[in-house]
Amino acid sequence: MAVIVNQEKCIGCGACVPSCPFGAIEMRGDKAYITEACTMCGACISVCPVEAIFREEIERNVAMDKTEYKGVWVFIEQSHGEIKGVAHELLGEGRKLADELGEELAGVLIGNGVEAQAKDVFASGADKVYLVEGPEYDHYNTEAYTVAFVDLIQKYKPSAILVGATNDGRDLGPRVAARVRTGLCADCTNLSIDAETKLVLWTRPAFGGNIMADILCPEHRPQMGTVRPKVFKKPTPDFSRTGEIVKVASKVKESDLKVKLLEILAVCTSNCKLEEADIIVSGGRGLGKPENFAAVEALAEAMGGAVGASRAAVDAGWKPALHQVGQTGKTVGPKIYIACGISGAIQHLAGMSSSDTIIAINKDADAPIFKVADYGIVGDVMEVLPLLTAEFAKYRAACK
Ligand code: FAD
Ligand code: SF4
Ligand code: SF4
Repeated sequence: MAVIVNQEKCIGCGACVPSCPFGAIEMRGDKAYITEACTMCGACISVCPVEAIFREEIERNVAMDKTEYKGVWVFIEQSHGEIKGVAHELLGEGRKLADELGEELAGVLIGNGVEAQAKDVFASGADKVYLVEGPEYDHYNTEAYTVAFVDLIQKYKPSAILVGATNDGRDLGPRVAARVRTGLCADCTNLSIDAETKLVLWTRPAFGGNIMADILCPEHRPQMGTVRPKVFKKPTPDFSRTGEIVKVASKVKESDLKVKLLEILAVCTSNCKLEEADIIVSGGRGLGKPENFAAVEALAEAMGGAVGASRAAVDAGWKPALHQVGQTGKTVGPKIYIACGISGAIQHLAGMSSSDTIIAINKDADAPIFKVADYGIVGDVMEVLPLLTAEFAKYRAACK
């Protein structure tokens, strides 16, 4: 499907340009053109006075032989040779899907000098590792990783691909899906095999988290999806497992690389590494003002934890977005999650309800957060937080 301007009909009135919410229409001379930014929302179609804009069905993959596509793949996201937790989580889940299909599970490992990590990929359940190495993969680079991944798909034809819904995974997954002309189900919270079709059943929240949607990709291959970190538990590694390493030469050319990495700025300190944290102390609008976030940070520091925030706190500018927990923020699964002055909206719960132990501090005894909390403290957060911080600081000092 594509949205197109019939150039012969277009009279150059320009009415369609402001109608596009994505800035995807350009006037070139006296004709309108739709650019790559088009999301095919269709908002411009009814605006055109001469009906020059229309949707065109493009026949894609008509000759695709779906039976050629076999096996479940997991993108092994790594940084400086250290595999991200989400890759292990997806290997554990991918193993179950592959076993149910009677197919193999493979990890896609792209990087520079990362071959040694293959043993960890096997230990988490893979039968095979597709390895692409080179200096161009030293740091994540959209074009380089896309070229490598697409080349692997075209050569080895997997049936399903799981990618972590991290910053890099959310960048890579959709781009790869678009290049190989398949669909991608984003931010899945459950994966299974549909008994009737044997397709992957991608489950994700829809309509603001009010329903769970089950999504299939029946016409195209590979079936692709991103899954948030911490939705699944990491499998226990079995280092007696081994597998086959398939080394594939890099296909990236200098001309593929449109972006060059000049410098890495460390904006994230240990207290914002929420996905990896065992303890998270999160603050919400109930803190009252930005300065009061210091009390949340002090408790996190005393407990050796990370600092989270509700979207209300982030939207108010009290904390940067990389601290946000929830449906449009990070999904976390710490051992202890302390919600301070957070009401417990469904979109917040979507990001933290799998925490092992939830503690809520709220002055309203009827706040929804208490329905999911294991321990609740009804009180003023600014009175409770300093007391907890002092106790934990004493405890930590005594443990030293
Ligand atoms: P509020 O709902 O205003 O709650 C503040 C709480 O603090 C109240 O329960 C109040 O009783 C308590 N309180 C007030 N004063 C004190 C005090 N002195 N001591 C103790 N308690 C006090 N939200 C997220 O968090 N993450 C998301 O990713 C997210 N994504 C969203 C996506 C969509 C599509 C939509 C529509 C919304 C999303 N939201 C998200 C917003 C969400 O619906 C809520 O608006 C938000 O979580 C509310 O934040 P809050 O709990 O901090 O604020
Ligand atoms: Fe813009 Fe939507 Fe028209 Fe595409 S279909 S050009 S995104 S208004
Ligand atoms: Fe052309 Fe129609 Fe856009 Fe006018 S509204 S510029 S006629 S496509």
